[in-house]
Amino acid sequence: MIQTINPYNGQELKKYQEDNSKAIEEKLNNAQDQFEQWRLTSYEHRSQLILKVADLLRQNTDDYAIKMTREMGKPIAQSRSELEKCAWLCEYYAANAESHLKNEYVDTDHFKSYVSYEPLGVVLAVMPWNYPFWQVMRFIVPALMAGNVGVLKHASSVMGSAVLMEDIFIDAGFPKGCFTNLVIGSKAVENIIKNPIVKAVTLTGSKPAGSAVAGTAGSEIKKTVLELGGNNALVVFKDADIEQSVETCVAARYQNTGQSCIAGKRLLLHEDIADVFMERFKTAVKDLKVGDPENDETYIGVMSREDLAEELEDLMNKSIEMGATLELGGKRDKAFFEPTILTGVTKDMPVFKEETFGPLMAVTTFKNEDEAVELVNDSEFGLGVSLFTQDVEKVEKLVSRFDDGAVFVNAKVASHPALPFGGTGISGYGRELSHFGIREFCNIKTVVID
Ligand code: NDP
Repeated sequence: MIQTINPYNGQELKKYQEDNSKAIEEKLNNAQDQFEQWRLTSYEHRSQLILKVADLLRQNTDDYAIKMTREMGKPIAQSRSELEKCAWLCEYYAANAESHLKNEYVDTDHFKSYVSYEPLGVVLAVMPWNYPFWQVMRFIVPALMAGNVGVLKHASSVMGSAVLMEDIFIDAGFPKGCFTNLVIGSKAVENIIKNPIVKAVTLTGSKPAGSAVAGTAGSEIKKTVLELGGNNALVVFKDADIEQSVETCVAARYQNTGQSCIAGKRLLLHEDIADVFMERFKTAVKDLKVGDPENDETYIGVMSREDLAEELEDLMNKSIEMGATLELGGKRDKAFFEPTILTGVTKDMPVFKEETFGPLMAVTTFKNEDEAVELVNDSEFGLGVSLFTQDVEKVEKLVSRFDDGAVFVNAKVASHPALPFGGTGISGYGRELSHFGIREFCNIKTVVID
């Protein structure tokens, strides 16, 4: 049985009977059968159905939002925004998939030569709980538009959201087998990857999960895309607009109660503006509305699981023992973690080196540009970095010195349907979204005619 629990009050929401091996086999066979039909459908047909999904997301926002909020503690207003973003993603790929995948003619000495983007088949997605809808939609929408079909192994803690999403696709008119939810725990994943029906795997989650899944897929010579989190820096140079950068840094760290791979986790302040910045930052964080995730006004809910809140507390305590100063917050009550700020953080501390997946900001100061670049790159992760300055020309010259998959100037790192999303180092490989994302699960076929 897979059990879901409301992390705000600890109450059980539902128990789900796990699929046994026969049920899994049947679902995979159905997916394969459906793929043979689906690959032949037109872009126009696929777009119509995807747009119907967008309609359903908008028509039923309140019903879907409450499901996410109860399963993982996300403040309800942020659940609604997540659904709106999913609808936007549907519209983007409905409008652009065909042009992203049109044949590319290449001038060669052949009579005719071109590249054709064709679907791979059944793709498995192993997904996390932090954005229960968005993480899945980011995979399934381009996959379906490219002519693939998807099977989902969602995080156990958000199984209700997974069941709901499968229903939404059926209600939108997708034939059964285009998007299939597997009711399974992580132990069942290895055999599914090894099943010849599964052609590729995408995973968003932790490094251990990514490493296990990619290891199995690698041994079977199956393609993987991995999105494994980050330890993004927010760099505030001394010429930054303080008010604007405080506001952006607060949102970059504390939205989704800090549980986002692209959250700004390390705040790097130029020493000349550190005091004035911190004074305002601390006030802004103190003002964040903490409370019941179902309340419209709440900005900080609870973390999605008590064990993850305990892990965060452990990283915080170890860093304090090593000399960091607890500037604000620091208290935990079950899955609730106060919005927290640690200052005086150094490179050797756990809150600097490891991913803090919750509402805790680690603050460090720097003296000059070179030191800032060095601090940003001093991480095994490489998802993104935000730079705050009024001298955009100067900072653009710095862009190539960062190892990350994304550099944002005067903005928090955020995904956008038309821009590639992914990282370097232990943040993973491959890209989601944009034309890069939709091509990840395509057979890039060379066609030559003489
Ligand atoms: P996990 O990586 O364990 O879970 C993500 C998904 O992977 C879930 O569906 C999980 O299933 C599955 N999974 C876990 N282990 C395996 C495995 N060995 N083989 C196959 N599938 C597996 O994340 P946690 O929920 O434990 O969170 C731990 C940390 O991971 C966080 O603190 C954060 O640092 C990072 N994380 C990063 C995310 C991101 O957006 N990049 C999202 C979530 C977490 P099940 O739920 O059944 O265990």
